[in-house]
Amino acid sequence: MGTAAERREELKAVYEQARDCTKCAQLASTRQTVVFGSGNADSDLMFVGEAPGANEDRQGLPFVGQAGRLLDTLLEEIGLTRGDVFIANVLKCRPPGNRDPLPQEIDACQDYLFRQLELIEPRVVCTLGNFSTKLLRGDPATGITRLHGREEVRRIGPRRVRLYPIYHPAAALYTPQMLDVLRTDFARLPELLALDPPEQPEPEAEPQLVVEEPEMAEAEAEREPEAAQLGLF
Ligand code: URA
Repeated sequence: MGTAAERREELKAVYEQARDCTKCAQLASTRQTVVFGSGNADSDLMFVGEAPGANEDRQGLPFVGQAGRLLDTLLEEIGLTRGDVFIANVLKCRPPGNRDPLPQEIDACQDYLFRQLELIEPRVVCTLGNFSTKLLRGDPATGITRLHGREEVRRIGPRRVRLYPIYHPAAALYTPQMLDVLRTDFARLPELLALDPPEQPEPEAEPQLVVEEPEMAEAEAEREPEAAQLGLF
């Protein structure tokens, strides 16, 4: 859908919309910043977390607190840095007191995420935890415990991606066994990135401008040659 530079410009326009968003009255009034996302806007790998916390809200960047430091370490272990990937969240504003995102907040915010996915065009989308996994799989009933570490090709909006759910890094901060699982799942990312990109759906045809001839004209056009042939006029 355009060159990387065009997609980046469009992404900036989406950011400008999100920056002034007031769709969730409470979040708009309690946030310090809108945390849109950061990283390489043309990356093959995009991470989607839950929502900004206090540090993210202050700095305007995703995953800059403790969970973010763990994410940095895990990235480093597979030879990547933040600059190689794009990191975003389901919600762009911090829920007060770090409460869970509400269903109506997810509904109101999801178009920003879908636009990000459409414009960044990642091959692999790694969902961190339940909220992003459920939203992007469109299946609120199946959680991360069953799904983590299993990739699947899913269509999200106009594109197919390899969706790869893993545990949220915050879940591994205080539980060593969880950290082992997260590391094992993370270690498969290079392999997924090396696969051929998923085959893309046929682009939908642009609506055509159809100009219909008025019925009379068509009828006359059909009659005319016949009339000319018969030499009647
Ligand atoms: N947790 C998230 O899900 N996202 C952040 O940006 C920070 C912590």
